[in-house]
Amino acid sequence: MYDYAIIGAGVAGASLAFELAATGSVVLIEAEKQPGYHSTGRSAALFTPNYGNGIVRSINALSMPFFVEPPEGLARQPLLTGRGLLTVAPPGQEDGLDKIAAAAADDAPVHHLPPSEALSLVPLLRPEVVSAALFEPGVMDINVDALHQGYLRRFKTLGGHLMCDARVLELVRSSGHWIIETGDKTVEAAIVINAAGAWADHIGAMAGAGPIGLVPKRRSAIVVDAPEGLNIHALPAVDMAGSEAYFKPEAGRIMASLGDETPTEPQDAQPEELDIALAADWLQRHTTINLRRIEHSWAGLRSFVSDDVPVVGFDNALDDFFWLAAQGGYGIMMAPTLAQASRSLIKLNRLPDDFEDRGVSQKAISPARLAEQLEPTLMQSSD
Ligand SMILES: Cc1cc2nc3c(=O)[nH]c(=O)nc-3n(C[C@H](O)[C@H](O)[C@H](O)COP(=O)(O)OP(=O)(O)OC[C@H]3O[C@@H](n4cnc5c(N)ncnc54)[C@H](O)[C@@H]3O)c2cc1C
Repeated sequence: MYDYAIIGAGVAGASLAFELAATGSVVLIEAEKQPGYHSTGRSAALFTPNYGNGIVRSINALSMPFFVEPPEGLARQPLLTGRGLLTVAPPGQEDGLDKIAAAAADDAPVHHLPPSEALSLVPLLRPEVVSAALFEPGVMDINVDALHQGYLRRFKTLGGHLMCDARVLELVRSSGHWIIETGDKTVEAAIVINAAGAWADHIGAMAGAGPIGLVPKRRSAIVVDAPEGLNIHALPAVDMAGSEAYFKPEAGRIMASLGDETPTEPQDAQPEELDIALAADWLQRHTTINLRRIEHSWAGLRSFVSDDVPVVGFDNALDDFFWLAAQGGYGIMMAPTLAQASRSLIKLNRLPDDFEDRGVSQKAISPARLAEQLEPTLMQSSD
């Protein structure tokens, strides 16, 4: 019998497991043999302070101190390293840069660069696609593995129990606690936390909670060799204004994505051949990379609810079922803050003070705000 059972050991579940382990007994239940097999292991690993809506940006800003100075013993390497982001406007898309510049936070400034400087910063860009450019120095690479493994290691040191290869199949509430069936094991806990990523609405349905209207969206990426002789480690990430497409250095190669967002069922996402071909074509039209072959390709799921804000809080109807879901394309950078927020909500029923100071209310991230939105839709569909 545990105080807390967390379902899903991606970065969301692992970070909250660490936060709660000092306060009670915690079991972290993961369906796969390896935690991080799904979205957490398939991200672009960027800390992008000016990405996402206002609430997401506030949450990201709150995460920064953790990344710079993680708790004692959590990280053996720096969690962030400088990368920078160059956003390039092809002819006709220059206005897009002004909008990005106007929306940039004061503590995450951007500045315009003449096309010639943009091209010397990223020499493999084709000059004809660079009509104007913007540079954001505050974008960082996140060492996702160090963060995720650090959370898991510290969680176990604090007495937490990680169960892998244990897919939750059934959740039953009996005599004031939860009975969790994983096939060959049964676990009992006072509070269940749903950190199941793309499967969060499935877990909610098992518990008789929600739904929150979660939509997993597939995003694909290709990895190709960089041109010989170019120091690609020093390159910034590159975004294309007017589209979601981007490329960035990754482990000595170039990773590129069209930024596709195809709604899909929760699953072990695989890239479609067409998406791979389109990404390769885009890369060749925008850079001078002589693309002979694709080294590697992959896809992952970014899961959103209707307002693109994460869902953090106790279920509307079940006061012992907690949601930590819908982190979209920002779940790595938001993880430290959302885990601290979850701990505070679970233990004290309120958010840490700095949330309110940043304009993030308990209601704005609660499952309750979605229940209000979803109710009319559900009623219509049952008519
Ligand atoms: C292509 C791509 C690029 C991205 N780029 C960035 C980026 O640059 N920066 C950023 O911050 N974020 C980025 N993200 C988003 C980020 O990866 C996610 O928001 C984050 O990983 C979500 O973490 P999670 O723990 O909720 O989900 P997951 O890592 O998917 O973990 C959920 C876990 O729940 C488990 N689970 C599900 N059902 C059950 C069950 N029944 N029983 C037991 N376990 C179960 C799954 O096996 C899984 O391991 C990107 C995502 C993608 C796909």
